[in-house]
Amino acid sequence: MNTRASHTPSISCVMPAYNEAGNLGTVVPQVLAALQALSARTEVIVVNDGSRDDTAAVARALCAAHPELVLVDLSRNFGKEAALTAGLDAARGEVVVLMDADGQHPTSMLREMLDKWRQGNDVVYAVRRTRDDQSALHGQLAHMFYRLINWGSRIEIPPNAGDFRLIDRKVVEALKALPERNRFMKGLYAWVGFQSTALEYAPLPRAEGKSSFGLRGSFALALTGMVAFSSAPLRALSLLGLLLSAAALGYGAWVVIEYFWLGIDVPGYATLAAGMMLLSGIQLMSIGILAEYTGRIYDEVKQRPAYLVRERSGTGLASDIGHP
Ligand code: UDP
Ligand code: MG
Repeated sequence: MNTRASHTPSISCVMPAYNEAGNLGTVVPQVLAALQALSARTEVIVVNDGSRDDTAAVARALCAAHPELVLVDLSRNFGKEAALTAGLDAARGEVVVLMDADGQHPTSMLREMLDKWRQGNDVVYAVRRTRDDQSALHGQLAHMFYRLINWGSRIEIPPNAGDFRLIDRKVVEALKALPERNRFMKGLYAWVGFQSTALEYAPLPRAEGKSSFGLRGSFALALTGMVAFSSAPLRALSLLGLLLSAAALGYGAWVVIEYFWLGIDVPGYATLAAGMMLLSGIQLMSIGILAEYTGRIYDEVKQRPAYLVRERSGTGLASDIGHP
């Protein structure tokens, strides 16, 4: 019998916030109310990711009004993945919900997510039904990215699933135990595995401010993910090298036949120039791809922490509560 079926767990909500001063005042009370309707033991952990606006001050004021609120103030902007990691480290609940601070993740989903957890799922992730809030090009590129990163891979990163998810304590512990610094969370969730299920949702429009993940931000994240979770680019290089060698060998043989058997003088300059440009282009590209991998290796061996905390305020869940 599933021991979770009738259990009401303590819930932590982790909320990374970068320049969300205009949103926290409405989003935090809303999320708190939604959580409190589900469990008597809840906390919301706002991770201020080095915001340039008043996010920290707004969060501190909210902490004074709501004892369930915790503010983890990072020493600078470390990026959303690091902010999520900081939040997971601080979270104490038996289940943890990851939500954006901009009001795009509907609180109405929380009850259904918890029901799925009660049915025995360790991860309940929300899959966006549409990408209406992004350009068509962005959607297409995202689609290509998932095709590429999942190509020939043992783990499958579900397309269109973001960080909005509910995870069990044992998944939190598994994620915390992963030592890497380049944290592509969507990949890490897939890597740790566990019993997972999806729920569809339509993202709400951003309440205030603007998204940090335009095409450029998304591209940088996609590159981190690609390097961390796929060796497909390296394999593609080997394949390209093999194909080119085969083509060169074939062409060489053809030139010999032309000269000795057919008596044709081989005119060469254009082919030579084009061939050289193609080859040096491919070589530079290969070095670039190798450099992406070695750069990440360098990041990892330096063993710098994924984030630094400047200050922590609020209490939240006072102590860890027994697991079901
Ligand atoms: N965020 C963060 N650090 C960053 C960028 C974003 O903590 O460097 C937070 C942001 O405050 C929000 C969430 O990550 O709560 C998602 O960011 P955003 O809304 O900009 O992205 P989108 O919803 O467009 O994917
Ligand atoms: Mg957003």
